[in-house]
Parts: sequence; C-alpha cells; structure tokens
Amino acid sequence: MPLHVSTHPLVAHKLAILRDRTTEPKKFRELVRELTWLLGYEAMADLATRPEPIETPLEPMTAARLEPKVGLIPILRAGLGMVDAMLELLPTAEVWHIGLYRDERTLKPVEYYNKLPDAASVQVCLVLDPMLATGGSAAATIDILKQWGAARVKQVSLIGAPEGMATLSAAHPDVDIHVAAMDSHLNERGYIVPGLGDAGDRQFGTFAGPASEPGHGPDEETAEVVRRLQRNLGD
Ligand code: URA
Repeated sequence: MPLHVSTHPLVAHKLAILRDRTTEPKKFRELVRELTWLLGYEAMADLATRPEPIETPLEPMTAARLEPKVGLIPILRAGLGMVDAMLELLPTAEVWHIGLYRDERTLKPVEYYNKLPDAASVQVCLVLDPMLATGGSAAATIDILKQWGAARVKQVSLIGAPEGMATLSAAHPDVDIHVAAMDSHLNERGYIVPGLGDAGDRQFGTFAGPASEPGHGPDEETAEVVRRLQRNLGD
C-alpha cells in the first residue's frame, strides 16, 4: 500500500504543537508551513533526476537536475496553507486550483472551479490537504487530474483517517499518500479523531459560528457519508 507515515521526530514534535487546542492561528499557520516543508521533502524523495553538465568554479562535472514538472493542487480552503512551503521547495512548480463542493442530495463532489488547460502541463501532481478525512474530495480531484493527463499523483496531508485512506486507495491504488500521522477514526461530523479540529478555521481564525466547531452543526449528510465509509471499512 503506498501509504507513507513520517517517522521523523521533528514531524512528531511539530504535529503535537499543531494539534494542541491552545495553539493560536499565527503559530498554527507557521507549523502547517514547516510540516508541509518536511513532508514535501519526504514525498519528493523518489522524483526522477536527469544528468546535466555544469561547471563549478573548479571543474566541469555532471550534476543532477529535477526531471518532471510538478503541479501543486491545494484542496480549498485548508490546502492553501500548504502551498507556500511547497513553493519554497519547488519555486518553479505550477499551482492549479480545483474547486469542489458536496452535492447535498447525492453527497457526491461537484466541480465549481477548474481552469486546467486542455493538456497536462506537469507530469507530477501533489494534492495538498492538511486533513485526509473522508477522502471524497481527494479522490474526485485526482480523477480530474488523471483525466487531464497527469502521469503521477501524490497526496500530501498532515493527518489521515483510515476511512479517507481506504477511499483514496480504493479509487486510486497508484497514488502515494504521505502523512505526518494516521489517526484513529472519523467522528459522525466527519472530523478526524483525535485530529486537530477544523484545519481551515484554525489557520484562518474563522471560529465564528457553532457550525464551524467540531461536533456541532446540523450536517446529516456528512454523518451519512461517515457511516457509509465506516460500514465499508468493517466489511
Ligand atoms: N477537515 C478538517 O479541517 N478537520 C477534520 O478533522 C476533518 C476534515
């Protein structure tokens, strides 16, 4: 199974501070950035390189340059906080946005924003979402990227749930999944437990309504999705 759970002690340490409910948005954003940097470094360890002749001040040599063009696809909105760190690692990466929402009747993801050009302009796509929860958005985004012609796709998340990992690996068994931790389960509201709460609200300081708090909000559709995923996991 292409699941990679980081074992780096720095990742574990930063994740502990990230999860802590007392960590305020400024610190939270810094940690998302630092963790993305570390996970991105691990996720790109197998990218191909090509030999390139260069001259150092001392002599000519054959150096290695990164071969594939890489695209970053943040899942809106929480994935946006992972983009800058990835761009620090890969300043020439292209950033493509795909907007999806879940249809309340069918519970299926529906595309509302997609400006991908006709032909794929990158070979490797990194899908960025701090929380791999139900896996529905990730799987639908990857469907779109594969139809676009992306040769290789990797999912980079800070925390994963078994339900989301099962959905994603069933839909896209070839996609590598990189996480800092794999948690216990989803609750009935679709939050990862123990998790860190709402990654979007914690980054952007949007704690305004009860619906944004874990465990609150009249979201029966999410509960139905979670029940279905948990039934599938039990099979
Ligand atoms: N999205 C979040 O922000 N947090 C979760 O726990 C699950 C999905």
